[in-house]
Amino acid sequence: MDLVPAPSGEDSLKTPVVEVEAVDMDQLAMSAEERALEDIPSTYETDSDDSEDWDTLSNADDAIQILRDDQIRDGLVPDACTLEEALGYRKRLHAIGKAAFVEETIVRETVTAKKLCTAFGIVPPAFLEGAPDEAYHSLLAIAISREFSRRPKLPQYNSIDDAVRLLRESRNIIVLTGAGISTSLGIPDFRSKDTGLYSKLEHLGLSDPQEVFDISVFREDPKIFFSIAKDILPTEKKWSPTHGFIRLLQDKGKLLTNYTQNIDNIEANAGVLPEKIVQCHGSFATATCVKCKFKVTGDEIFGEIKEGNVPECTACKKVIAEDSLKSQGLKRKRSSNGQQKDRKVSDDSSDEDDYEIPTPGVMKPDITFFGEDLPDEFGERLIHQDREKADLVIVIGTSLKVAPVAEVPGILPRNVPQIYISRTPVSHTDFDIDLLGDCDVVVSELSRRAGWDLKHHMIPDDEKVDITTVEGYESRHVFKVAGA
Ligand SMILES: [Zn+2]
Repeated sequence: MDLVPAPSGEDSLKTPVVEVEAVDMDQLAMSAEERALEDIPSTYETDSDDSEDWDTLSNADDAIQILRDDQIRDGLVPDACTLEEALGYRKRLHAIGKAAFVEETIVRETVTAKKLCTAFGIVPPAFLEGAPDEAYHSLLAIAISREFSRRPKLPQYNSIDDAVRLLRESRNIIVLTGAGISTSLGIPDFRSKDTGLYSKLEHLGLSDPQEVFDISVFREDPKIFFSIAKDILPTEKKWSPTHGFIRLLQDKGKLLTNYTQNIDNIEANAGVLPEKIVQCHGSFATATCVKCKFKVTGDEIFGEIKEGNVPECTACKKVIAEDSLKSQGLKRKRSSNGQQKDRKVSDDSSDEDDYEIPTPGVMKPDITFFGEDLPDEFGERLIHQDREKADLVIVIGTSLKVAPVAEVPGILPRNVPQIYISRTPVSHTDFDIDLLGDCDVVVSELSRRAGWDLKHHMIPDDEKVDITTVEGYESRHVFKVAGA
């Protein structure tokens, strides 16, 4: 069987299960009871213990293909569940648990394991084509566990009115933000391959543009990072309507925490208070000397960065200057006493041999590079403070694929409603309401409907927004400026 052609877009069919699992941190929130694999009936264990099956399965890891809901709806896989059937099976699984679900389906033979795999978004692999249905049991067990660990969508929240009501009634809102809320300001998303940043990085001889943010590359040659840092830095104290919306939530006493993946520190420009922001990947707000750990505010080195220079540590420079004064004094002293001078020279000889001009440390902005630990504040605050308080989650301008922000929806209690605002929907997490489109347009329309005054020069006073509901998804709505 030919596999379904992979569509363009992030959630390609070729995405292996393991990768999805890697970002699916729902499991963190699972209770031990839910986690118990005893739920899977013994027939599955027998299958799994069969070494032949294991080999087949492990060889086939690459062949496991993810099926998105829109692909299920469009009937791209032969003999697959319809979207309606798939949604029904998922709902049933969450309602009755894994053991009862398997009893009701596979044990009673009401549906084949092969077909049931598609209900949970897994394409039956080509190498199993023609095999007895039992051959699909191992794969189905994975599919069921994966689905069961997902937070199911809350059925009572679907419409724009529901979203507006949630905004008005919630008191402790967690806002998760990503690059999408800053792109309208001309700040490139360095993860996006479409930005000029990437082609620029090719000129620097980097095989993977993300190497710019690799700590070992930085240590080796900080010039690479600073040659592009000026393009990431906001040029003026501006902010987008979406940043303004977060500020508005704060003014209304509704903002619990804004967890942001962004390092541009634009939230601060909009007046979001430092105690309301967790910068999950750090930010340019401060910088630290790589040698002596001296810390400065970002403002103190922005001038150097703007000019494309490598900012150097003033504390190190001071020490070097003082040392050089001291050693000059020492030389004078040495020359006044021949014997002492000789002994000194021999004592210091190793230093003299390795003599290098002392250099000040480089000031590294306190953004988290690949290979560095994430700031502790994230988990501390989320688990010990925000988890119990949050009554609404709004995810804006991020595909939620990068840890640790990607983990948040799974860590929070499952009854907390979750709204997603971005250009394209994601399939690895189920939000209660998806509001698709330019996030500035979505938040301005939401504010309008909530009766809130979100003033921003980028929002025309007479802006009219058309909203259409995506066919087959009562909770998915597309926002477009009328006439645009
Ligand atoms: Zn220093």
